Amino acid sequence: MIVMKFGGTSVESAAAIESVAAIVKTRLDRKPVVVVSAMGKTTNKLLAIAQAAIAGRRDEYLPQLHDLRGYHSREARQVAPLSERAELDRVLDDHFQELTELVKGLAVLGELTPRSIDAISSYGERLSSYIVALAFRHSGIPAAHVDSRRLIVTDNRHTQAAPLFDLTYARLAREIPPLAERQVVVMGGFIGATADGVPSTLGRGGSDYTASIAGAGIGAEEIQIWTDVDGMLTADPTILPGGRRVKTISFSEAAELAYFGAKVLHPATVLPAIERNIPVLILNSRRPEVAGTRIVAEAVHCSNIVKSIACKRNITLVNITSTRMLMAYGFLKRIFELFDRFETSVDIVSTS
Ligand code: ADP
Ligand code: ASP
Ligand code: MG
Repeated sequence: MIVMKFGGTSVESAAAIESVAAIVKTRLDRKPVVVVSAMGKTTNKLLAIAQAAIAGRRDEYLPQLHDLRGYHSREARQVAPLSERAELDRVLDDHFQELTELVKGLAVLGELTPRSIDAISSYGERLSSYIVALAFRHSGIPAAHVDSRRLIVTDNRHTQAAPLFDLTYARLAREIPPLAERQVVVMGGFIGATADGVPSTLGRGGSDYTASIAGAGIGAEEIQIWTDVDGMLTADPTILPGGRRVKTISFSEAAELAYFGAKVLHPATVLPAIERNIPVLILNSRRPEVAGTRIVAEAVHCSNIVKSIACKRNITLVNITSTRMLMAYGFLKRIFELFDRFETSVDIVSTS
């Protein structure tokens, strides 16, 4: 089994989804489990709808909901077999009716909690995974859609939830392999649910993380992250175009680059992969012939000292000085107890 994860741009349109089907088709012998992001910029749009709702801007959120429904319906109809169009319409109706009720509820309350943000943003991946499974069947790939909320169990830190690995791995190992024997399993990334069944999300860009959690849970032989660039590049192409593809990189190097801004990979992605020593590949769904970037356990020797440069914005810098430092002790301990109490992670520390 392998896990193949396709990001938002890779499933943004009927044409893009058809390319995904073509890529998956060439790898059927490896028993792919497919993880998909929300289509295009759907997550951003859902969050904008939620913001408009709590601000009471009805003339904004109702047309936005209408457009989002139109977008999903238009693209999905092109990839759905005629025989399944009625069922597709029914599923879209159900989802958008439910979503609209939720949004109207937020408008009445005028308050957005992390829990309700997750309820709203979960619709992106719920819809995309259903549509991609439909498209696969239309192109002759036997496909089974699985609701990730039944498999990925998380804590209740909504919008930044952490998986409960024991429960999640047990469910993945029980549910996926029997299905993947004969069909391509398609599941949404990013979303899960708490042990009580309340929808949760793994944080923005979290579909990569779902892919590696799924990979570790089923003991996949490889985790492939399909995106819109040739792999991990020597710099963020939106900041510095013309970067080179990094061919091989170690888990720790990739994790550090991701953590410090290389958005091509969610920072937590490599953790489950390291634990089970599963190689991770970053590949381009628009240029599947390119070898991409291979992320492996051990760094290979490289004549360049610097492999890639990342950049992270909106860093808060805290300068702390004490006049009673000489021969003092326990000062840093007390400071870090504060970061601990407020669950704040510290990127870099410098002391003198
Ligand atoms: P997806 O929707 O497939 O998950 P993302 O937009 O999350 O795609 O990540 C891919 C994007 O990451 C690229 O289009 C690129 O703009 C950005 N990026 C930032 N840093 C890097 C880097 N070092 N190498 C490659 N891409 C990078
Ligand atoms: N759709 C989610 C996001 O936009 C997750 C992902 O794409 O990885 O953040
Ligand atoms: Mg991403």
